[in-house]
Order: sequence, then structure tokens, then C-alpha cells
Amino acid sequence: MTRTAEAMPQGLAALDVTKPSLTGLTRAGLAESLRAIGTPDREIRMRVSQLWHWIYFHGVREFDAMLNVSKVMRAKLAEHFTLTRPDVVEEQVSSDGTRKWLIRMPPVDKLDKGAEVECVYIPESDRGTLCVSSQVGCTLNCTFCHTGTQKLVRNLTTQEIVSQLIVARERLGDFSGLSRPDDGGLIPSGEGVRAVSNIVFMGMGEPLYNFENVRDAVEILSDGDGLSLSKRRITVSTSGVVPEIGRLGEEAGAALAISLHAVRDDLRDKLVPLNKKYPIKELLQACRDYPGASNARRITFEYVMLKGVNDTPSEARELVRLLKGIPAKINLIPFNPWPGAPYECSDWETIEKFSDIVFNAGYASPVRTPRGRDILAACGQLKSETEKLRARARLAAEMD
Ligand code: SAH
Ligand code: SF4
Repeated sequence: MTRTAEAMPQGLAALDVTKPSLTGLTRAGLAESLRAIGTPDREIRMRVSQLWHWIYFHGVREFDAMLNVSKVMRAKLAEHFTLTRPDVVEEQVSSDGTRKWLIRMPPVDKLDKGAEVECVYIPESDRGTLCVSSQVGCTLNCTFCHTGTQKLVRNLTTQEIVSQLIVARERLGDFSGLSRPDDGGLIPSGEGVRAVSNIVFMGMGEPLYNFENVRDAVEILSDGDGLSLSKRRITVSTSGVVPEIGRLGEEAGAALAISLHAVRDDLRDKLVPLNKKYPIKELLQACRDYPGASNARRITFEYVMLKGVNDTPSEARELVRLLKGIPAKINLIPFNPWPGAPYECSDWETIEKFSDIVFNAGYASPVRTPRGRDILAACGQLKSETEKLRARARLAAEMD
């Protein structure tokens, strides 16, 4: 594993928060920004297209790189706006090629210090998945998840969500004119092959508690003139915010993942307390009704394997029974422990037995291989290590 603390390229102190960044805005947001600096109405559409292409297709950092925009317009844009994107404060690279970035967002106003989130990149031979966050922290307190124990919570803006992919594309040499970092060939490469081909909203936060920003971010991420990710390859994972699930299909069209983790309400009430509000039956009905779900576009059900808690063969059989009639994929996730966690991961044998039952019922390759364990990059561990390091640094400073 390698860890690099980065010099902050744009120095937060020098950052002018009075000049908003255009990176990460929707088309409507860009239009509004252009209008605000007096751009005539008849020019707006054309200008938005130009900006869109330079920001999202080319990933430029300077207005001066926008070659088909007049010098006068570039100067005007630079006078009022920036193309600032978040800083990568720290990068860790796992021995398996997984990368974890600690990203500091630009302040949203003068009082804001800039949110910090973690973002994980997982390369595989045929794909590269970026795991993004939708909130800083999470309000939902699932008992097996470390993110839920964090106090500070706020929604990320659309800009902040989209910026996570822009930062990753830049670091991974995914924009034209850039090259892949040297990592011994773990990052997928080749003619037309993208380092990031898939996005999962499985970092910090409950995406459906930040619905509008997540929806708008999906729109930007999947726009064919810019970042161009297929909506089929963008998966939003929810702990079960039932009233927003249908809207996700209708308004965002992203793939759906459900953090199920238990087959009985009494247990799910404990593991995922939101279940008390939206019990399993209602949750599964929302899945049956999910717009666009089909055998080609299956809903993923995540099931974290907790030793002696939810891992018996009869629970595996019940899981299969519950999901009957829903076009589903099942993802068994070995529990990733964190300091002080009240659970342990099920034994490998138990997971295999569970997985065999699920497999024999027709669900393929269900166990998720833990990735980036040496850099604590796994689900539910995000941010924790960084907080721990900070606490350690504070302690060391106090002892000095
Ligand atoms: N809040 C959303 C998305 C973020 S969590 C949700 O709950 O779906 C992403 C996935 O990681 C969820 O399935 C979550 O249950 C799982 N997870 C959380 N903590 C974990 C841990 N310690 N070990 C394994 N998986 C965990
Ligand atoms: Fe929040 Fe998801 Fe963690 Fe539950 S599992 S606390 S919903 S991030």
C-alpha cells in the first residue's frame, strides 16, 4: 500500500469563494450563470454547449483552453467564475490496485470550510468502478456501518457529487490528452476503454435523502456530450427510502441496489433502523414496481454477512423466496469490521453454504470480493480511518 499526502494544488486559503466554479453544474445551472453576467439570451444555448463540451468532455481546468470561445468571452468568464474542482488531499493505493482518495470540496460559502469525502476506485479486468458519496456522513445509523456513527452530516451538492468523477478521470488519465498512471497494468486500458466505466453510490450517505442532487448528478454523469456514462452502469444504493424509489427510476433512470441484509422485520429493524418506517414488504413492493426493472436490468440486493446474526441456510432460502418475481441480483458482502464494531464477519464456510443456496436458486456469482482492505476502502469504512489519523495527529500535537 502507498499513501501520499498531497500538496494542495490550489491552496484553499487563496481560493476566492466569491467566484463560483462552473465545474459540476447542470445545463440549467450553466445557463443561469451565463445570464447573470449579461450574456444575451440568443447566445445562451450555444455558450452552454461550448462550456459543457470543454468541462465534461475535455475536462479542462482553464477558460483559456476553450479554443472555440472568443478571447473576450474567456476573459469575461474568468473574471466572474472559476473551473475549480475539489482537491485530492490524500491518495492511498492498495496492493490490489484499489485507490482511495480523500477529497476536499471547495467551500460553498464564506463560513464553510469545505466538506471532505472519500471516494474509492476499484479496477477490474473488464471495468473500473468508482464508488461515490452522496452525503458527508449519514443520519441513518445502521448498526454495522461505521459511516452511520459519524456526527457531522450534510448533503453534497450536485457539483460536489459530479466532481468526484471529474477528479477520478483526471487522476486516472481518462480525459483526452492525459495518460494512465503507472500501476503495473491494473487499470483497464486499450482503445476506447475508460478507466471509470461504472459508478456506484455506495460511499458515504443515503442517496435518496439527497434526491434532487443525486438525480441531477446522474443526468450530468450520463450526458452523451460530456462524461457519457451509461445509466445502466450507474447504480444508486439505498437502505430503503420507499417513497423515493419510484422517483429514482422515473426521474434518474439509474440502476437500483437495495441494502436488504435481513429477511425478517424484527432483525432488519435492528440492523437498518429505517425498516421500522418502511418494512420489508413495502420495500419489496417498491422494487416490484421499479420503472425499467427487467431481466436485463436487474435490481441488486445487498446482503452483509454477519456471523451468527443473519447467515443461516434457512435465511438464505427465505431470501430466495422473498425475491421471487423480482428481476434480482444478489450481492453477498462479507462484513468489513471497524474498531469497536458489534459484529464479526461470517465464517467463509457459512458464506459458501449461504451462497450455494442462492446460486442453486439461479443467482450467479454472488459474493463480493473485499477490495482495498489494506487501505480501509471497503463499504462502511469510509472516512473512519481518516478521522482516526486526524485524532492521532491532534493527540501527537497536544503531547508536543
Ligand atoms: N446508504 C446507502 C449507500 C451507502 S452504503 C445504503 O445503505 O445502501 C453501501 C453499502 O455498504 C450498503 O449495502 C451498506 O449496507 C454496506 N455496508 C455498510 N457498512 C458495511 C460494513 N461494515 N461491511 C460491509 N458492508 C457494509
Ligand atoms: Fe447510512 Fe448506508 Fe451506512 Fe446505513 S449503511 S448508515 S444508510 S451509509
